Amino acid sequence: ESGVPLVQAGTLVTCTHLPYEPFQFQEGGEIVGFDVDVVDAIAEDLGVEQEIVDTPFETIQSGEDLNAGKCDLAAAGMTINDVREENLDFSDPYFEATQALIAPAGSGYTSLDDLAGLSLGIQAGTTGAEYAQENATEAELVTFEDLGLLLTAVQSGQVDAAINDNSVLYDFAADNDDVEVTAEFETGEAYGIGVKTDNTELLEAVNASLARIQEDGTYDEIYEEWFGT
Ligand code: GLN
Repeated sequence: ESGVPLVQAGTLVTCTHLPYEPFQFQEGGEIVGFDVDVVDAIAEDLGVEQEIVDTPFETIQSGEDLNAGKCDLAAAGMTINDVREENLDFSDPYFEATQALIAPAGSGYTSLDDLAGLSLGIQAGTTGAEYAQENATEAELVTFEDLGLLLTAVQSGQVDAAINDNSVLYDFAADNDDVEVTAEFETGEAYGIGVKTDNTELLEAVNASLARIQEDGTYDEIYEEWFGT
């Protein structure tokens, strides 16, 4: 075991918000996904086991969970941005994303303008919600607590379309013929792992592990497992 201080000795406690497939979701009673595998590699380098805590995305991105000592890390497909950086520290970027639109197949909604007077689903506390609030001013925004509820609402017709990160939407559309990704908005986002502000020792350990897995091929293997064709 390394000397890095952890909230619970011998365990790397990760806060996340389920489901966010393919980054973190339940499968056969287990929590699996891209972020889960990345953090497992970090835990391995620290000589400890990862334990995952499911908590609202709002309190992850606000830094509340980390500050309360609920977890050591936050790994939740979370975009690095200035507002969040005031309340927590981010690792080096480990994944790129951009906002995208998902709509029922054949709907023809390919821009936010097409949704004027219609309803657009957003996920609470996310960069997609913020983008919609700023750019989809003519749409009626409907907030959902998690990605699962958001996507179900598109399929059931409860909302006309929804906005979220591109890779989760493409992943869902690949398995569901009744929906399609119809636009990307080039928001140029990058995901980082959150650490409590000034927990420099852990932050450095996280960055060292991210560099290690990028160099030794582990990152590519994890990428292939969750995004390979
Ligand atoms: N990347 C987006 C954000 O940081 C969505 C993350 C999520 O919903 N888990 O807001």
